[in-house]
Amino acid sequence: SAALASATATDEAYIDSPLNIWLNLVDTDSHPPESLHGDTIAGIGLFRSESLLTERLSGFPSEEEQYAVYLQLCRRWKRYPVTIRMFDIGGDKTVPYFSLGPQDNPFLGLRAHRLYRFHPELFMNQVRAILRAGIECSDLRILFPMIETVEELKYLQELLASAMEEMKQQGTAYRHDVKQGVLIEVPSAVWILKDLLERLDFISVGTNDLLQYHFAVDRGNINVSNYYQPEHPSALRMLKYIADAASESGKQITLCGEIAADPYLVPVLYGMGFRDLSVDFHAVNSVRLSVPEGSSDGLENIAARCVSASSIEEVHAILDESGGSDR
Ligand code: PEP
Ligand code: MG
Repeated sequence: SAALASATATDEAYIDSPLNIWLNLVDTDSHPPESLHGDTIAGIGLFRSESLLTERLSGFPSEEEQYAVYLQLCRRWKRYPVTIRMFDIGGDKTVPYFSLGPQDNPFLGLRAHRLYRFHPELFMNQVRAILRAGIECSDLRILFPMIETVEELKYLQELLASAMEEMKQQGTAYRHDVKQGVLIEVPSAVWILKDLLERLDFISVGTNDLLQYHFAVDRGNINVSNYYQPEHPSALRMLKYIADAASESGKQITLCGEIAADPYLVPVLYGMGFRDLSVDFHAVNSVRLSVPEGSSDGLENIAARCVSASSIEEVHAILDESGGSDR
């Protein structure tokens, strides 16, 4: 598509970037994936804003510095929805000039909004910059990472409302109709999904973290990484539950994380009902090609069998037999 071509051609720096393309596979049957003309690019599915922090050597960027970055992003993707994730600091995302204090378990420690409780100004400056820049795009979305409970979401929504009120009082121009979403990446959020959905416009499933917390395994630790098993029925059943809950609510859902770009798993995810995937630029074509034209019914069937399988071996057998891609 033109958008993809211009984005890759004009900004090399974005190739290995915090930017994930939002790929919509709904029209796969009418637009053969072999064709680059099918408009399956739906926008920016995830902008990992922490990159603004981790790329610097000192000091948090000011509201103005952030505004300049978000403005560039919104202008470049003017015709498309742009989803900006609020800072997710902590866990694997460390900021060299900011200490989170001693932490034996960084992934279970001070991370994302847990930090805003101590430093609400981080959230306020960022959200102001995003809302100001968002005037320039057609569809602005903000994404709250690491939400565990409705209470945490309410807290951030209160901060958002107060930032808006403040800008209104100051006469600052900002985007009023921003869409709000949560990254479902902590298992506790799965079990209150309906309560969360009532307060949101969309959700995005952050499968890297969700599966890491689901299996209680650090994927980066070579001694235990084999316990990270995205195609295990235990993971597939959880993902299916999420897809169904979102579909019942009528709210939009995207899926991100590495499995969204895995040609072995994309057909199963598609069969489970996931149509919107957020993937790296590099993966766009292989993801499209992994769902062949006219395969919807067959994939639904395969996914249903995988979801009810009783072992990971059984899932592998179903996928191998269905002629899935090599692994
Ligand atoms: C995820 O957890 O799947 C996700 C998209 O966020 P990140 O990988 O940046 O933590
Ligand atoms: Mg995550």
